[in-house]
Amino acid sequence: MTQTVQGFIKKTVAFSERGEYIKALDLEFMACSLLGIERSKLFSSSITLEKKDKTKFLSMIRRRNKGEPLAYILGTKGFWNLDIEVNNKVLVPRPETEIIVEDVLLNFNQKYLNVLDLGTGSGAIGLSLKKEKKEWNVYCSDLSEDALEVTQLNSLKHNLNIHLICCNWLNAFKPNSFDLLISNPPYVKEGDIRLHSDGLNFEPPNALISGITGMEHLFSIASFSKRHLKKRGYLYLEHSPDQAKELKLFLKELNFKNISEIFDLNGDKRAIKAQNS
Ligand code: GLN
Repeated sequence: MTQTVQGFIKKTVAFSERGEYIKALDLEFMACSLLGIERSKLFSSSITLEKKDKTKFLSMIRRRNKGEPLAYILGTKGFWNLDIEVNNKVLVPRPETEIIVEDVLLNFNQKYLNVLDLGTGSGAIGLSLKKEKKEWNVYCSDLSEDALEVTQLNSLKHNLNIHLICCNWLNAFKPNSFDLLISNPPYVKEGDIRLHSDGLNFEPPNALISGITGMEHLFSIASFSKRHLKKRGYLYLEHSPDQAKELKLFLKELNFKNISEIFDLNGDKRAIKAQNS
């Protein structure tokens, strides 16, 4: 008997057990990726599920039910204006991080700027800015060579000419180099219960965890960035909402000016920007 993709999705949702991660939306995205179709097609015409596709579909479902992020299974994640290729060497780009891109684009209209995406991972921040601002000189750095391979793949895929640098935070850069220094560093503390939430234990721990307070990397980037930002250049840091107060104080002590918080779509303080004096 032939089975349709739509029927298979319905049946899978109906039979999914409590505690399994999979949702109808995940299944729809999997089907689209597998069959190379737009999501609207799933609603407009019934599609036969071939046996070979069903086998692949079942394997994707098993991976998702074990908690693997959908983005790793599909190999891609939408971020701002790009489809970003991802694998388990990089963090899955989050919608929270898009608020940084948005704030930068709203506030910086200069034609030429030197911009660093520090700890770039898949390249989401740096590449989406480069896509919008072709004249900007964008550097994407990471300590992980595996991550930079993904960044490079994305820069080639989208034909965006950025500089890739493998280094430990700022140690490869000259003083007084950047107009904008942007980072979404690891900021989760060791042992945090959030590490048990959906998908996180499949992501690279080095990109997520920062010591026993979660603030170690944020503090060192803030300190080093004073030297590497140009005068009046801006630092942008993503952080967790409960770190906002401490980070703001720290930036004040470092003599940063015009410090302001940026809120994510949940209304939480998710990033901070500050101007070098
Ligand atoms: N936003 C991620 C989370 O809370 C953490 C990302 C990071 O550490 N940079 O799951």
